[in-house]
Amino acid sequence: MAIKKSTKTIKTKQTTKKVVAKKKVQKKSLKTATKVTPIASKSKVAPYKKGKKEKYMSAKMKKHFISVLKTWKEHLMSEMQKTFDHLKNKGENFADPIDRASQEEEFAFELRTRDRERKLLNKIAFSIEKISQDDYGWCDSCGDEIGIKRLEARPTATHCIHCKTLDEIKEKQLNG
Ligand SMILES: [Zn+2]
Repeated sequence: MAIKKSTKTIKTKQTTKKVVAKKKVQKKSLKTATKVTPIASKSKVAPYKKGKKEKYMSAKMKKHFISVLKTWKEHLMSEMQKTFDHLKNKGENFADPIDRASQEEEFAFELRTRDRERKLLNKIAFSIEKISQDDYGWCDSCGDEIGIKRLEARPTATHCIHCKTLDEIKEKQLNG
């Protein structure tokens, strides 16, 4: 009995060592993953060049933003699929409960990112819907033009920069 017990202790120690080594590798890969976060590259569509006499939100302009939004959506969806496959494979490979626990941090990080992307996909769908209803590019609060420059940087923007800034100031004041 006593001999059996000591063998067990040694085994546990070895496993712990292994996990520590793995954790180091994980942290490294986590860092790299943060660097290539897809949200930064919203679209690969070239910025719109507005004609001098062109009206704001002309048919051509609307077409441009539809392709910006659709390209962004496709990019997000392929990123989400990649992570889904990645998490699935990992879940299958790490049947050991200790290994599973050491994966938790990375999983939580990935899931938070996916959650953000899901919300973003909803916003993108909403913006595309707005374009089809001729309602895109105008501020929800004051009705002014949101502006091409701002839409190029934030294609899902629903407020002009003035109203957005005002909202943020109000929010800050409310939260002390
Ligand atoms: Zn406004």
